[in-house]
Amino acid sequence: MAGKILLIYTGGTIGMKQDPETLALKPFNFNQILEEVPELKKFGCEIDTYSFDPVIDSSDVQPGFWITLAEFIQKNYSAYDGFVVLHGTDTMSYTASALSFMFENLSKPVVLTGSQLPIGMLRTDGKENLISSIEIASATDSQGHPMVPEVCIYFDTHLYRGNRTTKYNAENFRAFRSANYPVLADVGIHIKYNTANIRTPDNYTNFLKVSKNLDTRVAVLKIFPGITPQVMDAVLGMEGLRGVVLETFGSGNAPTADWFVSRIKDAVRRGVVVLNVTQCHAGKVDMDAYATGIALKNEGVISGYDSTTEAALTKMFYVLGQSDDLSIIKELLNSNLRGEVLN
Ligand code: ASP
Repeated sequence: MAGKILLIYTGGTIGMKQDPETLALKPFNFNQILEEVPELKKFGCEIDTYSFDPVIDSSDVQPGFWITLAEFIQKNYSAYDGFVVLHGTDTMSYTASALSFMFENLSKPVVLTGSQLPIGMLRTDGKENLISSIEIASATDSQGHPMVPEVCIYFDTHLYRGNRTTKYNAENFRAFRSANYPVLADVGIHIKYNTANIRTPDNYTNFLKVSKNLDTRVAVLKIFPGITPQVMDAVLGMEGLRGVVLETFGSGNAPTADWFVSRIKDAVRRGVVVLNVTQCHAGKVDMDAYATGIALKNEGVISGYDSTTEAALTKMFYVLGQSDDLSIIKELLNSNLRGEVLN
């Protein structure tokens, strides 16, 4: 293993400590992490470190944070072979998804990781997550190309495509799931890369393009038995709304009541883009499967296929930031841009 890795600390449990007064976990400083993991000095690669200031609990992540992080990676892109981002688990899937869309022609690994227990605690999962992430970010194939030139999440022996993940468990060490896409690598005695599932760039020398224009005039609307016209109006009537991620039942189904369908129809007519994703953890939207799905399709709702809500939302931010032209927006939403969807 050789090369140069940039380790970026943004916050999250991995670097937190208990506040003696409230006993709540709060972000602590980066040096503590480095002290807790002397193994970092044993790597055969060079590791530089950078800490955000302030570091945050990832529940405070906003799109502006993604832009700052993306710009920082862009600024350092040519100087490093891979990037490891320490990040809170709560919104890690959103950040990984957002970065995957913002980075076009990515040809180096960007591995996000964190932990469920702070790195200073005896039973922490943070050490293994951090050490394996660095190993993965610096791994190369026989031609010297990075093994995983993707935005990914490494957690509890599994490497996932970032935009396929969801935080699934609030206390188990296996915090993430990628229900609709296989893992990119399995870590045991050896690191087994599932190369057939890893995306590689057409050309490793293509220039990294970073899109910083995210249009956040988007809402996520989760339907539920008992949803009322008032709830629909509050969301769909928002001033300036450009997109809605509609979380539907099963294979993309929603109520067929006139008041429901007419509100969706009216939003689409006003130019609001409605993207249908399922509330199920696995499987995909198929709006042709039931009459309840066909009604949505007929009103111009777009299928999100098997994408997660995290990927659908951040894809919408990205795509709406690319164009005002509805046909281009629909075409992009219907396309597999970064391996986030099987359409
Ligand atoms: N609240 C923390 C965060 O997302 C949880 C974690 O890191 O596991 O920043």
